[in-house]
Amino acid sequence: MDSGRHFQHRHATHLTPLERRINAVGEALRPLVPYAIQTAVTMGAYSAGLAAAQTLGMAARVSCATPVLGPVGGLLGVGLASALAGQASLLCRESLHGGGRGGTPGPAAARPARRGWSAETLLVDAALGIALFKLMGGRFRSVMPSDLSRVGAIALESMPTRGIEYASRGKRRELFRFFKRDGCHHCGTRRGDVIGDHMPPNKLVLDRVEAMPAALRTLRRLPFVKEASEALGVHLGPTPQRYYPQCQPCALKQASAVKHGKTRLVFHQILHSGGRSSAWHWAGVVTGLRHHSSEAGTRGQRRAGSWKGGPW
Ligand SMILES: [Zn+2]
Repeated sequence: MDSGRHFQHRHATHLTPLERRINAVGEALRPLVPYAIQTAVTMGAYSAGLAAAQTLGMAARVSCATPVLGPVGGLLGVGLASALAGQASLLCRESLHGGGRGGTPGPAAARPARRGWSAETLLVDAALGIALFKLMGGRFRSVMPSDLSRVGAIALESMPTRGIEYASRGKRRELFRFFKRDGCHHCGTRRGDVIGDHMPPNKLVLDRVEAMPAALRTLRRLPFVKEASEALGVHLGPTPQRYYPQCQPCALKQASAVKHGKTRLVFHQILHSGGRSSAWHWAGVVTGLRHHSSEAGTRGQRRAGSWKGGPW
Protein backbone atom coordinates (compact mmCIF):
# COMPACT_ATOMS: atom_id res chain seq x y z
CA MET A 1 0.00 0.00 0.00
CA ASP A 2 2.81 2.38 1.07
CA SER A 3 4.94 1.44 -1.89
CA GLY A 4 1.95 2.15 -4.22
CA ARG A 5 1.41 5.59 -2.67
CA HIS A 6 5.14 6.26 -2.89
CA PHE A 7 5.03 5.34 -6.59
CA GLN A 8 2.06 7.66 -7.19
CA HIS A 9 3.85 10.51 -5.39
CA ARG A 10 6.99 9.94 -7.44
CA HIS A 11 4.90 9.74 -10.59
CA ALA A 12 3.15 13.07 -9.80
CA THR A 13 6.34 14.89 -8.92
CA HIS A 14 8.18 13.64 -12.01
CA LEU A 15 5.77 15.21 -14.50
CA THR A 16 7.39 17.46 -17.06
CA PRO A 17 6.25 21.11 -17.22
CA LEU A 18 4.38 20.30 -20.45
CA GLU A 19 2.54 17.38 -18.80
CA ARG A 20 1.64 19.58 -15.82
CA ARG A 21 0.30 22.23 -18.18
CA ILE A 22 -1.79 19.62 -20.05
CA ASN A 23 -3.17 18.37 -16.72
CA ALA A 24 -4.02 21.94 -15.68
CA VAL A 25 -5.85 22.57 -18.99
CA GLY A 26 -7.72 19.26 -18.57
CA GLU A 27 -8.80 20.29 -15.05
CA ALA A 28 -9.94 23.69 -16.29
CA LEU A 29 -11.95 22.17 -19.15
CA ARG A 30 -13.57 19.41 -17.05
CA PRO A 31 -16.66 21.47 -16.05
CA LEU A 32 -17.36 22.10 -19.75
CA VAL A 33 -17.58 18.40 -20.65
CA PRO A 34 -21.25 17.94 -19.59
CA TYR A 35 -22.16 21.03 -21.67
CA ALA A 36 -20.29 19.64 -24.67
CA ILE A 37 -22.05 16.25 -24.40
CA GLN A 38 -25.47 17.84 -23.96
CA THR A 39 -24.83 20.22 -26.89
CA ALA A 40 -23.84 17.32 -29.15
CA VAL A 41 -26.90 15.24 -28.15
CA THR A 42 -29.23 18.23 -28.60
CA MET A 43 -27.73 19.10 -32.00
CA GLY A 44 -28.18 15.46 -33.10
CA ALA A 45 -31.84 15.45 -32.03
CA TYR A 46 -32.50 18.82 -33.71
CA SER A 47 -30.93 17.59 -36.98
CA ALA A 48 -32.96 14.35 -36.78
CA GLY A 49 -36.14 16.42 -36.29
CA LEU A 50 -35.37 18.59 -39.34
CA ALA A 51 -34.61 15.46 -41.39
CA ALA A 52 -37.95 13.94 -40.29
CA ALA A 53 -39.76 17.16 -41.29
CA GLN A 54 -38.14 17.07 -44.73
CA THR A 55 -39.08 13.40 -45.14
CA LEU A 56 -42.69 14.18 -44.17
CA GLY A 57 -42.67 17.03 -46.72
CA MET A 58 -41.40 14.62 -49.37
CA ALA A 59 -44.13 12.07 -48.50
CA ALA A 60 -46.85 14.77 -48.60
CA ARG A 61 -45.37 16.25 -51.85
CA VAL A 62 -44.86 19.63 -50.17
CA SER A 63 -41.72 21.42 -51.38
CA CYS A 64 -39.98 24.67 -50.51
CA ALA A 65 -41.80 26.21 -53.50
CA THR A 66 -45.32 25.09 -52.50
CA PRO A 67 -47.38 28.20 -51.65
CA VAL A 68 -48.57 28.42 -48.02
CA LEU A 69 -47.93 24.73 -47.21
CA GLY A 70 -44.16 25.12 -47.86
CA PRO A 71 -43.53 27.79 -45.19
CA VAL A 72 -46.17 26.33 -42.83
CA GLY A 73 -44.63 22.83 -43.15
CA GLY A 74 -41.19 24.31 -42.46
CA LEU A 75 -42.45 26.19 -39.41
CA LEU A 76 -44.06 23.03 -37.99
CA GLY A 77 -40.86 21.12 -38.80
CA VAL A 78 -38.72 23.58 -36.84
CA GLY A 79 -41.20 23.30 -33.94
CA LEU A 80 -41.01 19.49 -34.05
CA ALA A 81 -37.19 19.52 -34.20
CA SER A 82 -36.95 22.00 -31.31
CA ALA A 83 -39.35 19.98 -29.11
CA LEU A 84 -37.28 16.87 -29.91
CA ALA A 85 -34.06 18.73 -29.06
CA GLY A 86 -35.57 19.77 -25.71
CA GLN A 87 -36.57 16.19 -24.85
CA ALA A 88 -33.15 14.83 -25.88
CA SER A 89 -31.52 17.49 -23.71
CA LEU A 90 -33.65 16.50 -20.71
CA LEU A 91 -32.90 12.79 -21.18
CA CYS A 92 -29.20 13.54 -21.52
CA ARG A 93 -29.27 15.68 -18.37
CA GLU A 94 -30.94 12.91 -16.40
CA SER A 95 -28.49 10.37 -17.72
CA LEU A 96 -25.45 12.53 -16.94
CA HIS A 97 -26.59 13.51 -13.47
CA GLY A 98 -27.64 10.14 -12.15
CA GLY A 99 -31.38 10.30 -12.76
CA GLY A 100 -31.45 8.34 -16.01
CA ARG A 101 -30.96 4.76 -17.06
CA GLY A 102 -27.22 5.14 -17.66
CA GLY A 103 -26.38 7.09 -14.49
CA THR A 104 -25.91 6.26 -10.87
CA PRO A 105 -29.25 6.65 -9.13
CA GLY A 106 -29.15 8.66 -5.93
CA PRO A 107 -31.70 9.41 -3.24
CA ALA A 108 -34.99 10.51 -4.74
CA ALA A 109 -34.87 13.84 -2.90
CA ALA A 110 -31.48 14.71 -4.42
CA ARG A 111 -32.46 13.84 -8.01
CA PRO A 112 -33.70 16.64 -10.30
CA ALA A 113 -37.45 16.50 -10.73
CA ARG A 114 -38.56 14.84 -13.95
CA ARG A 115 -40.27 17.86 -15.45
CA GLY A 116 -39.62 17.21 -19.15
CA TRP A 117 -42.58 15.11 -20.17
CA SER A 118 -45.24 17.76 -20.11
CA ALA A 119 -47.20 19.28 -22.95
CA GLU A 120 -46.16 22.68 -21.65
CA THR A 121 -42.43 21.90 -22.01
CA LEU A 122 -42.96 20.55 -25.53
CA LEU A 123 -44.94 23.62 -26.58
CA VAL A 124 -42.51 26.11 -24.99
CA ASP A 125 -39.52 24.37 -26.66
CA ALA A 126 -41.32 24.34 -30.03
CA ALA A 127 -42.33 28.03 -29.77
CA LEU A 128 -38.88 29.09 -28.57
CA GLY A 129 -37.17 27.13 -31.38
CA ILE A 130 -39.46 28.69 -34.01
CA ALA A 131 -38.86 32.22 -32.68
CA LEU A 132 -35.07 31.74 -32.49
CA PHE A 133 -34.97 30.17 -35.98
CA LYS A 134 -36.64 33.25 -37.45
CA LEU A 135 -34.64 35.74 -35.37
CA MET A 136 -31.39 34.02 -36.44
CA GLY A 137 -32.25 34.47 -40.13
CA GLY A 138 -33.73 31.03 -40.97
CA ARG A 139 -36.26 30.57 -43.82
CA PHE A 140 -39.07 28.18 -42.92
CA ARG A 141 -39.66 27.10 -46.52
CA SER A 142 -36.01 25.95 -46.78
CA VAL A 143 -36.76 23.10 -44.34
CA MET A 144 -38.93 21.40 -46.98
CA PRO A 145 -37.42 19.43 -49.93
CA SER A 146 -36.49 21.14 -53.23
CA ASP A 147 -38.69 20.99 -56.34
CA LEU A 148 -36.36 20.57 -59.35
CA SER A 149 -38.55 22.71 -61.61
CA ARG A 150 -38.50 25.62 -59.14
CA VAL A 151 -35.87 27.63 -57.27
CA GLY A 152 -34.33 25.25 -54.68
CA ALA A 153 -34.37 25.33 -50.88
CA ILE A 154 -30.64 26.14 -50.70
CA ALA A 155 -30.81 29.05 -53.20
CA LEU A 156 -29.00 32.14 -51.99
CA GLU A 157 -27.49 34.13 -54.85
CA SER A 158 -28.33 34.15 -58.56
CA MET A 159 -27.63 36.33 -61.59
CA PRO A 160 -29.81 37.54 -64.45
CA THR A 161 -29.70 35.81 -67.83
CA ARG A 162 -30.88 37.32 -71.07
CA GLY A 163 -32.29 34.18 -72.61
CA ILE A 164 -32.13 30.43 -72.86
CA GLU A 165 -28.50 30.32 -74.07
CA TYR A 166 -25.77 28.59 -72.05
CA ALA A 167 -23.85 30.70 -69.54
CA SER A 168 -20.85 32.59 -70.93
CA ARG A 169 -17.38 31.87 -69.61
CA GLY A 170 -17.49 34.93 -67.32
CA LYS A 171 -20.88 33.95 -65.89
CA ARG A 172 -19.73 30.35 -65.41
CA ARG A 173 -16.77 31.64 -63.40
CA GLU A 174 -19.15 33.63 -61.18
CA LEU A 175 -21.51 30.64 -60.89
CA PHE A 176 -18.57 28.45 -59.89
CA ARG A 177 -17.84 30.91 -57.09
CA PHE A 178 -21.50 30.74 -55.93
CA PHE A 179 -21.37 26.92 -56.16
CA LYS A 180 -18.23 26.55 -54.04
CA ARG A 181 -19.56 29.03 -51.48
CA ASP A 182 -23.28 28.12 -51.30
CA GLY A 183 -23.59 24.71 -53.00
CA CYS A 184 -26.17 23.42 -55.51
CA HIS A 185 -29.38 25.41 -55.01
CA HIS A 186 -31.43 22.19 -55.00
CA CYS A 187 -29.42 19.69 -52.92
CA GLY A 188 -26.62 21.75 -51.36
CA THR A 189 -23.62 19.72 -52.59
CA ARG A 190 -20.43 21.53 -53.56
CA ARG A 191 -18.94 18.52 -55.37
CA GLY A 192 -18.39 18.14 -59.11
CA ASP A 193 -18.91 20.64 -61.94
CA VAL A 194 -21.30 23.56 -61.77
CA ILE A 195 -24.23 23.97 -64.17
CA GLY A 196 -25.83 27.36 -64.82
CA ASP A 197 -29.44 26.42 -64.07
CA HIS A 198 -32.06 28.61 -65.76
CA MET A 199 -34.94 29.44 -63.44
CA PRO A 200 -37.71 29.09 -64.55
CA PRO A 201 -36.44 26.16 -66.72
CA ASN A 202 -36.08 26.85 -70.46
CA LYS A 203 -38.79 24.37 -71.48
CA LEU A 204 -41.38 26.00 -69.21
CA VAL A 205 -40.48 29.45 -70.55
CA LEU A 206 -40.71 28.29 -74.18
CA ASP A 207 -44.06 26.60 -73.47
CA ARG A 208 -45.37 29.84 -71.94
CA VAL A 209 -44.16 31.85 -74.96
CA GLU A 210 -45.98 29.37 -77.23
CA ALA A 211 -49.12 29.82 -75.16
CA MET A 212 -49.01 33.64 -75.52
CA PRO A 213 -51.47 35.38 -77.87
CA ALA A 214 -50.12 35.56 -81.43
CA ALA A 215 -50.17 39.39 -81.46
CA LEU A 216 -47.98 39.60 -78.34
CA ARG A 217 -45.55 37.06 -79.76
CA THR A 218 -45.27 39.11 -82.97
CA LEU A 219 -44.71 42.28 -80.94
CA ARG A 220 -41.88 40.58 -78.97
CA ARG A 221 -40.13 39.64 -82.23
CA LEU A 222 -39.97 43.24 -83.49
CA PRO A 223 -36.47 44.82 -83.26
CA PHE A 224 -35.62 46.30 -79.84
CA VAL A 225 -39.18 45.84 -78.48
CA LYS A 226 -38.12 43.15 -75.98
CA GLU A 227 -35.05 45.16 -74.85
CA ALA A 228 -37.03 48.41 -74.57
CA SER A 229 -39.88 46.79 -72.63
CA GLU A 230 -37.46 45.12 -70.20
CA ALA A 231 -35.59 48.41 -69.72
CA LEU A 232 -38.93 49.97 -68.74
CA GLY A 233 -39.67 47.08 -66.41
CA VAL A 234 -42.56 45.81 -68.55
CA HIS A 235 -42.22 42.11 -69.30
CA LEU A 236 -43.95 41.11 -72.52
CA GLY A 237 -44.02 37.42 -71.74
CA PRO A 238 -42.99 34.99 -69.03
CA THR A 239 -40.98 35.81 -65.89
CA PRO A 240 -37.37 36.82 -66.69
CA GLN A 241 -34.96 33.94 -66.08
CA ARG A 242 -32.02 33.85 -63.68
CA TYR A 243 -28.99 31.57 -63.34
CA TYR A 244 -28.59 29.51 -60.17
CA PRO A 245 -25.63 27.23 -59.39
CA GLN A 246 -26.60 23.56 -59.79
CA CYS A 247 -24.81 20.18 -59.60
CA GLN A 248 -24.80 17.71 -62.50
CA PRO A 249 -26.94 14.97 -60.86
CA CYS A 250 -29.70 17.52 -60.11
CA ALA A 251 -29.44 18.90 -63.68
CA LEU A 252 -29.95 15.40 -65.14
CA LYS A 253 -32.94 14.62 -62.89
CA GLN A 254 -34.41 18.06 -63.65
CA ALA A 255 -34.08 17.59 -67.44
CA SER A 256 -35.99 14.30 -67.23
CA ALA A 257 -38.69 15.70 -64.91
CA VAL A 258 -39.29 18.86 -66.99
CA LYS A 259 -39.30 16.90 -70.26
CA HIS A 260 -42.01 14.56 -68.96
CA GLY A 261 -43.93 17.33 -67.18
CA LYS A 262 -43.44 15.69 -63.78
CA THR A 263 -42.87 17.27 -60.38
CA ARG A 264 -39.74 15.81 -58.84
CA LEU A 265 -38.64 16.63 -55.30
CA VAL A 266 -35.12 16.05 -53.95
CA PHE A 267 -33.68 16.01 -50.44
CA HIS A 268 -31.19 18.68 -49.49
CA GLN A 269 -28.53 18.86 -46.78
CA ILE A 270 -30.11 19.35 -43.35
CA LEU A 271 -27.83 21.94 -41.74
CA HIS A 272 -26.41 23.42 -44.91
CA SER A 273 -24.12 26.37 -44.39
CA GLY A 274 -24.19 28.85 -47.22
CA GLY A 275 -22.64 32.22 -47.92
CA ARG A 276 -24.72 34.07 -45.38
CA SER A 277 -25.14 33.54 -41.67
CA SER A 278 -26.08 30.03 -40.62
CA ALA A 279 -26.81 31.02 -37.04
CA TRP A 280 -30.27 29.40 -37.30
CA HIS A 281 -28.51 26.02 -37.12
CA TRP A 282 -28.18 26.69 -33.40
CA ALA A 283 -31.83 27.58 -32.73
CA GLY A 284 -32.68 24.05 -31.55
CA VAL A 285 -29.48 23.72 -29.55
CA VAL A 286 -30.10 26.97 -27.68
CA THR A 287 -33.64 25.76 -26.99
CA GLY A 288 -32.37 22.39 -25.75
CA LEU A 289 -29.66 23.87 -23.54
CA ARG A 290 -32.16 25.93 -21.59
CA HIS A 291 -32.73 22.63 -19.75
CA HIS A 292 -29.08 22.56 -18.80
CA SER A 293 -29.17 25.93 -17.05
CA SER A 294 -32.19 24.86 -15.02
CA GLU A 295 -29.93 22.14 -13.62
CA ALA A 296 -27.53 24.63 -12.05
CA GLY A 297 -29.81 25.29 -9.11
CA THR A 298 -29.68 21.66 -8.03
CA ARG A 299 -25.94 21.27 -8.49
CA GLY A 300 -25.00 21.93 -4.86
CA GLN A 301 -27.73 19.57 -3.77
CA ARG A 302 -26.37 16.88 -6.09
CA ARG A 303 -22.84 17.23 -4.83
CA ALA A 304 -24.07 16.67 -1.31
CA GLY A 305 -26.25 13.74 -2.33
CA SER A 306 -26.39 11.63 -5.44
CA TRP A 307 -23.76 13.33 -7.59
CA LYS A 308 -20.99 10.81 -8.20
CA GLY A 309 -19.42 12.48 -11.21
CA GLY A 310 -19.32 11.20 -14.75
CA PRO A 311 -16.63 9.59 -16.84
CA TRP A 312 -14.90 12.96 -17.17
ZN1 LIG B 1 -27.74 19.22 -56.62
